[in-house]
Amino acid sequence: MGSISNRAGQADDPKDGCLVMHAEMKQTCPICHSTEWKAEYQGPVRDGVFGKYDDGIVWKCDGCGVSHLPPKEENLTDYYQSDEYREDVGEHADPQDYFSRHDDEQFDKARFLKGTSFRGKVIADIGCAGGSFLDVAKGLAKASIAIEPGKSYHASLRERGHHVYDSLESAAEQWQGQVDVAVCFSVIEHVLDPVEFLTGIRKLLTPDGVLVLSTPNQRDALLDFSGNPYRSFFYRRVHPWYFDEDCLRLASTKSGMTFEPQYVQRFSFANFAAWLREGKPTGNAHEAALGPVFDDVWKSTLETQKKSDYLYGFCRPAA
Ligand SMILES: [Zn+2]
Repeated sequence: MGSISNRAGQADDPKDGCLVMHAEMKQTCPICHSTEWKAEYQGPVRDGVFGKYDDGIVWKCDGCGVSHLPPKEENLTDYYQSDEYREDVGEHADPQDYFSRHDDEQFDKARFLKGTSFRGKVIADIGCAGGSFLDVAKGLAKASIAIEPGKSYHASLRERGHHVYDSLESAAEQWQGQVDVAVCFSVIEHVLDPVEFLTGIRKLLTPDGVLVLSTPNQRDALLDFSGNPYRSFFYRRVHPWYFDEDCLRLASTKSGMTFEPQYVQRFSFANFAAWLREGKPTGNAHEAALGPVFDDVWKSTLETQKKSDYLYGFCRPAA
């Protein structure tokens, strides 16, 4: 990765009267190696929990379309190994706190794993945190591998019978080419180099293995409909990368894997309407909700148009 140099400032553009940004981004895109970036957004970005903001510039790569928010932390590996990251996002770096926040999401995820069986398989969860998903899948699997930089989770993960590693490299020493199903939920947007990261996962997989990953969708409809209030929520200091299907496919291809997308809309129409009305997140519990039939149509419409709030991907080692 090249060096980052941002010199942010604003001045009136004499040509069209709009504000333009005089800032520079000197970094080679880790996906397509372009050095051309356009400032896509400048303004408040989420810095930890909702309500806390920092000013930032989001850059869009001219080559592959990935968006980048330069991270504040100079050493991301150290950051994720410490407890600071969980605390920055308003959580506590202990397993019980993780279970109380994330256990109930796990059955929802199973819905998106279409046709992926864990029975008798070696499974790995990359960036598993407290390991709620591995606990759900472990009963079927031959072996379960927990890869998590946050050391506060390790003792508890071991107690629950998972093989625990703090990095892809250390897991590969024992499991290279042996993992049948890897999952990686909401992690790729955090890493410094997405291609290097996916390459590390690919090395773990058997030739007919699969990686199921998920990440926020850069084509999320609310980015267009709500505009800046939603942008300042969507862009987060802890997420250096924002993907759409095309740049995620390119990252997957560069790491030696094929890619098949699946669009998943998590939030309801009432949440969407509240963003337009109030400019803030209100979640899925709404008195004004129009009911599950309407929400099913709403969600499948966004998913069909590739404008859902989440993007899943099925990556398989290329033949
Ligand atoms: Zn690029």
